[in-house]
Amino acid sequence: MGTDEGRRPDTPGWEVRVVPNKYPAFERQEVVVHSPEHKRSLAELDREQLDLVAKAWRLRAEAARAQGTYLFAGVNEGRAAGASLLHSHSQLVWLSEEPPVPSAERGEPCRLCEYLERELADDARVVEERGGLVLLCPYASRSPYECLIAPLEHEEDGYGPRLGAGLDLAAEALRRLGTLGGQRPMNLWLHEAGHWHIELLPRLNVYASLELGAGHYINTLAPEQAAADLRG
Ligand SMILES: [Zn+2]
Ligand SMILES: [Zn+2]
Repeated sequence: MGTDEGRRPDTPGWEVRVVPNKYPAFERQEVVVHSPEHKRSLAELDREQLDLVAKAWRLRAEAARAQGTYLFAGVNEGRAAGASLLHSHSQLVWLSEEPPVPSAERGEPCRLCEYLERELADDARVVEERGGLVLLCPYASRSPYECLIAPLEHEEDGYGPRLGAGLDLAAEALRRLGTLGGQRPMNLWLHEAGHWHIELLPRLNVYASLELGAGHYINTLAPEQAAADLRG
């Protein structure tokens, strides 16, 4: 996909491209290649390129919805985070229905609105606000420097016009994290339904029985300190 909408597939000059995953874990899985140049991380992409990534996700989400399918979008960076490619990319997985994690997060009234109100009242964990979005280190972070990116006002449909700005804030978080000690493995994903948000989990600790079996995450860095570090 590039600026020339009508171009045929596999022709030179592409800026972002979507290809089928060669080793799909699910029936249908696609890889979005974020850039023709060799970029290893989302942190190296500028806003223009991230807007193209957002547009690719949006177009695939529309195609998935037209077939009554849920699209799960995520980014893995680094071997410890499950990435097999060094080149910056995202995975789009077509699922027959909304998976349990995002569906459990939704509620009436919106839990994320309530949560953001508390976080913003005491901005100890807020890293940055920009373009109607907030980047913060959540209260119950599962790892050092876990980040949450969400619209300040309740906004549904994560594949909407602000997704590029959301990815840009994620890239900004990764750039700042990079200044604190180099590139880290990380997972990032979009929860697109309800009050949409992006969760970014640097993989700095190893999950063991307590984390996996009990759902209790040992995190040695307080989110207030993580936010202070990321504010720089
Ligand atoms: Zn909300
Ligand atoms: Zn979520």
